[in-house]
Amino acid sequence: MPENEYAEVMRVAERHAREWLASIAERPIAARAGVDEVKDALGRELADEGQDAAAVIERLATAIEPGLIAMASPRFYGFVIGGTYPAALAADWLVSAWDQNTGSRTPTPGAAAVEELAAAWLLDLLGLPERSGVGFVTGATMANFSGLLAARGSVLRSAGWDVERDGLQGAPRIRFLAGDAVHSSVVVAGRMAGLGPPRTVGADAQGSIDVDGLAAALGEHDGPAIVALQAGDVHSGAFDDFAGAIAVAHEAGAWVHVDGAFGLWAGASPSLRRLVAGYEAADSWATDAHKTLNVPYDSGVAIVADERAMAAALAIHAAYLPEVGAAAEPYDHTPELSRRARGIPVWATLRALGRHGVAELVDGLVASARGLAEGFAATRGLEVLNEVVFTQVCVAAEDDALTLALADRLREDGVAWASPSRWRGRAIVRFSVSNRGTDAAAVERTISAVRSALAAVRGAPVPSSTE
Ligand SMILES: *Cc1c(COP(=O)(O)O)cnc(C)c1O
Repeated sequence: MPENEYAEVMRVAERHAREWLASIAERPIAARAGVDEVKDALGRELADEGQDAAAVIERLATAIEPGLIAMASPRFYGFVIGGTYPAALAADWLVSAWDQNTGSRTPTPGAAAVEELAAAWLLDLLGLPERSGVGFVTGATMANFSGLLAARGSVLRSAGWDVERDGLQGAPRIRFLAGDAVHSSVVVAGRMAGLGPPRTVGADAQGSIDVDGLAAALGEHDGPAIVALQAGDVHSGAFDDFAGAIAVAHEAGAWVHVDGAFGLWAGASPSLRRLVAGYEAADSWATDAHKTLNVPYDSGVAIVADERAMAAALAIHAAYLPEVGAAAEPYDHTPELSRRARGIPVWATLRALGRHGVAELVDGLVASARGLAEGFAATRGLEVLNEVVFTQVCVAAEDDALTLALADRLREDGVAWASPSRWRGRAIVRFSVSNRGTDAAAVERTISAVRSALAAVRGAPVPSSTE
């Protein structure tokens, strides 16, 4: 393949990428064009004849641009969405250029080496058991699924049933339990794993699992059980009481899985580690690098303390238990066989930041969330509804209609973007601080954008602080 076959089209792609990246901080956040307009601009019919690659990319980038949302803006607070570090983005481009199928270790030693280091660094950084199996999956949904599959095999094995050999039909019933604030992706993962939705056992006002409720539910029956805990509730940011809940669950012989899509990163900060105290005693964990770590999509991480249980559930060989000490294959740790080398952008980000840089990143997000909460609390007519322990801030105006109007107006104004939602019976606007660029200046601009939007929906002068 001649070098120049790629040269021109890569230059076009790079120019558009740079223009996009340069525009993110100041462009209005919401997309200007809808799906139909973008389709029209692209042309809807499949052409009979081909077209030059550079022209294709030029057309693609030009037509899609009005339909792009500035999710990587420092003032984008919707869902839980990270931005992108330069090292992560550049590494991700190279992953595509290198095009290694990272399913098996032997043919791709370079990719395997980088991913194995990234995996070891993650365990070290998060303080999780160093012999855990780590899988680089698309996101926390697949990481939850991977953890639940390992859990399912393990608890059934203890009950004398080999699910990897005999399947689920006729197997002993598995009790699947979680707190009331369990994330919908754990529900989906449970459905895919044949466990059904979790039975919920209660939660406190912030969404942390009710440990007494868990103990009572576990005490009702004997037999295989899986408990899903949570590090970081999407609304409040609350963390479960890991030490308490894990002790109760392990006492009953249950497997404990932790969904920490964004909250697991508290473990990488010395000042926030208390939020996850005791979580290292769980059996499996799920997190996203595309959220808090600011790696581009898609980048989830599945972690299972008993690497053999992970391989038994996920390895391509049926009913396979690798020998102790044998190097695991990447496909032993993910539901896929073929996949891109997702661990490489993770490695590049961890190397660019270092241990201290990751801690500063997480601490900075939390500081900005507190800054937003203070600004909102000091605004007449706004109320912060959650205890801001991590990166999530839920705010409400006097009534639901006004709150929803505020969310719409904020997005129309284009300076900041947050998710309308419902929490504890009230309409809220939820701010998730997950972007590395959300600094004090971004917080200030966001607070004034919210005050202007509030004034606009009320038809009143801009409210300043309550003082
Ligand atoms: C985002 C999120 C998930 C799902 O993660 P994906 O990467 O979107 O699959 C699961 N749990 C929690 C708490 C989340 O915030």
